[in-house]
Amino acid sequence: MQIALMIYDGSAPADSDVPRTGGVPLAPAGFAWPLCGCGGPLQFFAHLPVEDGVLSVFLCQNNPGACAFWDASSSANRVYLFPREELRPVAVPEAGLTLLPATSAIRTHVVTIDPEDACDEEGIDGAYDLARSGWKWEPEEGFGKQREVLGSLGGSPSYLEDDRLPVCPSCTGTMEFAAHLEEGITRETAMKLGGQLGYVFVCRPCREGAFLTD
Ligand SMILES: [Zn+2]
Ligand SMILES: [Zn+2]
Repeated sequence: MQIALMIYDGSAPADSDVPRTGGVPLAPAGFAWPLCGCGGPLQFFAHLPVEDGVLSVFLCQNNPGACAFWDASSSANRVYLFPREELRPVAVPEAGLTLLPATSAIRTHVVTIDPEDACDEEGIDGAYDLARSGWKWEPEEGFGKQREVLGSLGGSPSYLEDDRLPVCPSCTGTMEFAAHLEEGITRETAMKLGGQLGYVFVCRPCREGAFLTD
């Protein structure tokens, strides 16, 4: 099986239409910056061009531990699937935590994993973890360059129990897994996920998205 790792690729202009974490979101005209149930603005996390548009991911970081960005049904996170055309930089609210301190470009690197190494008897899928821990790994090192891995695109969710798979709010079908997102390459550029892994889901027909951490 193949895993499309998302690898840190230096800094990028804040409003560029390249795969990136941080920077300013690009959205269709008339888009309003999303708000959390706490009243604060969500913080922009990632701009991920995909086959049928751009996934745009936001989470609330205004009240650490209180706003449940880890829960797909919470108002503390939002995932949009925008059409590819006519996206423009969004006006940034003046108050609240809105932007990450750095914009990190992403390149995709495909790694091939033997399925027999990746799945246990219950079919739990560890392929992403294997690909990530093997990134630039040398036999004399305990770890590879794991921090350079910002996540992965497509494939299947890593070690996620079925009961956590989100349901589309429009059609009530199970959503399709779209991406893993790590916190970031450095503490300064990181989104704070409590040390957990971010999961992005999408319902393409309804153009709905969801986010959770595990
Ligand atoms: Zn909040
Ligand atoms: Zn749907």
